[in-house]
Amino acid sequence: MENTVVGRFAPTPSGRMHAGNVFAALMAWLGVRAAGGRLVLRIEDLDPRAQRPEATRLLLDDLHWLGLDWDEGPYYQSERADVYAQALHALEGRGLTYPCFCTRSELHAASAPHASDGTPLYAGTCRGLSAAEVERRSRVRPPATRLRVPEQDDPAGTIAFEDLVCGPHTQTLAHDCGDFLIRRSDGVIAYQLAVVVDDALMGVSQVVRGNDLLGSTTRQIYLQRLLGYDRPAYAHVPLLVAPDGRRLSKRDRDLDLGEIRAHDAGPERLLGRLATTVGLAQRGEELGADALVERFSWKRVRACARDTVVFTA
Ligand code: GLU
Repeated sequence: MENTVVGRFAPTPSGRMHAGNVFAALMAWLGVRAAGGRLVLRIEDLDPRAQRPEATRLLLDDLHWLGLDWDEGPYYQSERADVYAQALHALEGRGLTYPCFCTRSELHAASAPHASDGTPLYAGTCRGLSAAEVERRSRVRPPATRLRVPEQDDPAGTIAFEDLVCGPHTQTLAHDCGDFLIRRSDGVIAYQLAVVVDDALMGVSQVVRGNDLLGSTTRQIYLQRLLGYDRPAYAHVPLLVAPDGRRLSKRDRDLDLGEIRAHDAGPERLLGRLATTVGLAQRGEELGADALVERFSWKRVRACARDTVVFTA
């Protein structure tokens, strides 16, 4: 059973799923079912500020309605603080981290260069603080924790991988993101660290998600190396955008499942339209998730994939 594909769907319960979230879930599900593998469901409820009451219950109900089942979980990140703390301490114990006191406005200063994913590139302001300075500043405000990335000319900081959908991808951490956060100043573990720990401990071998996270992957691979974890395969699927080019979002309540379920008899119309965007169904075809398993291959998805796909109501 060693080569069984273990995939996961890892939604953040910050609102009702929209068509883009369903698309990512469908691709993760197909990636597993077509390979006869196992799917883990993980609720990424790490950030208490981003939670919406009811969202998790609706999410599970929507997945049932869509016919997208899972084999393990749901696991809740909010219940896994201990495992993240262990990984954090392991990195701290090896001198790979440092406390960072920069405020949000300092980080977002207009002059700050930006990384490929739009986040400000960390300038290294707190990299060299003396112990006395750390002590002094800690009395004023609690620090966040950053991971030190290799210097620009150190080959260890250049990370390449082959994405099942997007093809080859390379980044140099010092240039593309700089030293990155692994724990926020309010004590919440950062997404990058939590996702790496969870994927490894849950035995995930195939990560399927929207390509807004393509730029995070090299950070995650770097953390896997430091923590001695295996690297999963990655498939970053296109983002769905509205006809005006705006990315579908929970905040704008774009095509959320509440509306879709209120108007449609079953999930087949939505699944058919999502499958069409990556060449797995004909225009106008309506079909259930099970019917797509035989048609699915990463090769087919890759042949059709672009960064974004226009999706209309
Ligand atoms: N929780 C993230 C989201 O809902 C996905 C994280 C991941 O797949 O790595 O966007």
